[in-house]
Amino acid sequence: MAKDLNKELIIDGLRMDGRLTDQLRDVKMEIGTVSSASGSAYVSFGHTTAIASVQGPRSLFPKFLQNSQTGILRVRYNMLPFSVSDRKSPGPDRRSTELSKVIRKSLEPAVILDDFPKATIDGFIEMIEADGSTRVTGINALSLALAHAGIPMKDLVAACSVGKINNTLILDLNGLEDNNSESDVAVAMMPNKNLITLLQMDGMLTKEEFMKLLNTAKDACGKIYEMQKMALLEKYKGEEQ
Ligand code: ADP
Repeated sequence: MAKDLNKELIIDGLRMDGRLTDQLRDVKMEIGTVSSASGSAYVSFGHTTAIASVQGPRSLFPKFLQNSQTGILRVRYNMLPFSVSDRKSPGPDRRSTELSKVIRKSLEPAVILDDFPKATIDGFIEMIEADGSTRVTGINALSLALAHAGIPMKDLVAACSVGKINNTLILDLNGLEDNNSESDVAVAMMPNKNLITLLQMDGMLTKEEFMKLLNTAKDACGKIYEMQKMALLEKYKGEEQ
């Protein structure tokens, strides 16, 4: 869809869905959604919904793909045909191949793969609804699924999007905002270590805008991190009873 940068999407400080500029959509997180998986999680930000599942660690075949020093992480990101209002043609495409790689790269620094030589850990992300910011929602979900699978990690990875619209920075872009943004940036980080694992920018920002955006993203990732920890605690609190 062509961008219309003059479209007024912020009126009197409020966005079209009634949010403030630095407000996340309603966030839901649930652990253990898929019983057949080693670990799984459901995460939604408004009408962007991901289910992530993890299988493994398990021996990697064919054997020539194995690394005797370390395990590997494989990720598949997929948007379901009904996830957007125009039917998305099913199956892999260039965008899903790129996003699978980007998501893997954003999670790899957190996973202690050396513990699993010759093995693979497979992560799958299915986007049930895709109303903007799907890559970061997928990262949040897969990070939780890895933790639920009991994979040793240095930290959880929390991710969010921040963009610029009508010359104003906004947090957690929905599909309409994504389509009409002057710039949008996806950020993933390991909040406890204060390490950024993904920074992807579309469009242009001044250095000042970029620094401000980064602070907004760090604050938001901190909040998302707390929600992730709560979701994991809820899961295990439930299992103790
Ligand atoms: P992200 O979802 O991480 O922001 P993109 O910037 O590539 O990644 O996509 C932005 C949004 O565009 C998606 O969240 C989705 O709402 C929409 N979109 C992407 N691909 C398609 C598609 N094939 N058909 C319809 N809408 C799409």
